[in-house]
Formats: sequence, structure tokens, C-alpha cells
Amino acid sequence: MRIGTQNDRLVIIGPDGIGTLDVEQASQGRFSSDPQAVYDSWAQFVAWADGVEMPDGEPVSPESLGSPVPRPRQVFAVGLNYAEHAKESGLDLPVAPLVFTKFPSSITGPTGTIELSGPRVDWEVELVVVIGAAARRVAEADSWHHIAGFTAGQDISDRAVQQAGTSPQFSLGKSFDRYAPLGPWLVSIDEFRDPDDLSVRTDLNGETVQDSRTSDLVFSVPYLVSYLSNIATLYPGDIIFTGTPSGVGMGMKPERYLMDGDIVTTTIEGIGSMTHTFADPR
Ligand code: ZN
Repeated sequence: MRIGTQNDRLVIIGPDGIGTLDVEQASQGRFSSDPQAVYDSWAQFVAWADGVEMPDGEPVSPESLGSPVPRPRQVFAVGLNYAEHAKESGLDLPVAPLVFTKFPSSITGPTGTIELSGPRVDWEVELVVVIGAAARRVAEADSWHHIAGFTAGQDISDRAVQQAGTSPQFSLGKSFDRYAPLGPWLVSIDEFRDPDDLSVRTDLNGETVQDSRTSDLVFSVPYLVSYLSNIATLYPGDIIFTGTPSGVGMGMKPERYLMDGDIVTTTIEGIGSMTHTFADPR
């Protein structure tokens, strides 16, 4: 199943992104139109949605969609979670997950313009996990039962701000407005043949700059859910950015950063694509 936010309302999206069903109307008010609220009753929603008939429809216009997770209570993000990316960053592989946050005010949808905060803003495609049932001290083997699904994300990063100060400011440098685009929708876990092995890609102005697979994650999705839940309670609708593979601008020689007019396309296998244009206000 795919769910999304269309014109600020929760919708089920048909196969291949064709056709939408308004959840509040179709459920006669049993489920709210607020997309964030659905994760609080995910199991009941999935059971109900299983029986609904999708109407015929048009291909969904990406511009009508917002983030499928608009207001998570908590946003976790994992750094250096692909070996090649750690190498290009000149850093050792962490022995435990390197975790920071992106503040929820940085969330935006799958299209639109993102204003650059400076001259060293970088791209980072990431598989994003959405929690569907509260998780506290969950064993790795039970992790999937606590996940609603996946969406695609970009962990847009201002490297100058990230590297300011004596230790890196990961959270601030990655939390400017719209630096956390998510979408185009959430795909439930049952839709993936192998949810541990999905291609993740960034194209910059049509040129592929990141191209990897989530099977290369140092700390897998089930491991991350278990690890985090043994420290903090994960709430329904919380999200986890799982880390980016190699191919970021900071790792290029010479370094390359986003410029006015650049177009970034983010694609994850089994989920879909997002496209954002960057603008330099200076
Ligand atoms: Zn990242």
C-alpha cells in the first residue's frame, strides 16, 4: 500500500501512482484527514485499507503531494552508515551508529524549490524508515513489526555549518528550512520483495552522482530500530534517515556543491522519485 499527503489530506495512492482515495471520506470519518495521525492507529488503518476498493484515476501530480510524514515527534538520522561514504569523508567507520537529528521544521514534500543557505550545500539520498508501532527495547528480529514503511529522503547538508565549532554540528547544518524533503509517498513494508536491498540514487541535473544499495548499510534497518529503541522510545510516525552512500559533493575532487538552478532527483527502488530545484537567494 502507498499512502501520501495530497492537498494536505491523507490519501491512499493506487499502484504505480495512479488514482487516489481520500481516507477520511472513504472511512466516513473513522480515520482523520491528518496524514500524521494515521501512524497512531497504523494496524487498524492497514486492516481497514485492505478492504477498500480503489477508484480509477489519473496519475498523481507530484506537485499536489506533501511529505507523507509531515510532523514526526522525533527524527533520527544516522551518519557514516555506508563504508564507501565514510572513506570519502576521510573518517573511520563508527563502531556504533552515529546518530543525530534533523529538526522537524526542516521537513518538506517531494517537489518544489529549496533555498540554499550558503556556498557549501550538499546532497545525501537516504532511505527513510517510518515507525508504525511504538518501539521500546525491541529485539532486532521483531523490528519489522514496528515499521509502517519506507519513504525516500534527502539529508540536505550545509557542510560549512555542519563543520563549524570544535565538534561537528550535524543537526544544525542539516536543519535549514526544507532540508529534509520526504516522499513522494510512504510504501508499506509488505510491498518490498527484499526490504533490506533497495537501490538508492541521486541525479544532479541528470547526471548520476550517488548510486548504491541499502544492502551495503553498515547498520541495517532492523538493527537501527532495535538499537535506537533500546535507548529512546520510538513513537508511531517517528522517522529514521538511515544514512547516505558515497557520491556526495564533499567527497568529490574538487568538491562540488549545489548552485542556483540545480535540479536534484532522488530515487529509491520500490518507492519512486522526488525532484527539487535549488535557488541561491544571494
Ligand atoms: Zn545523512
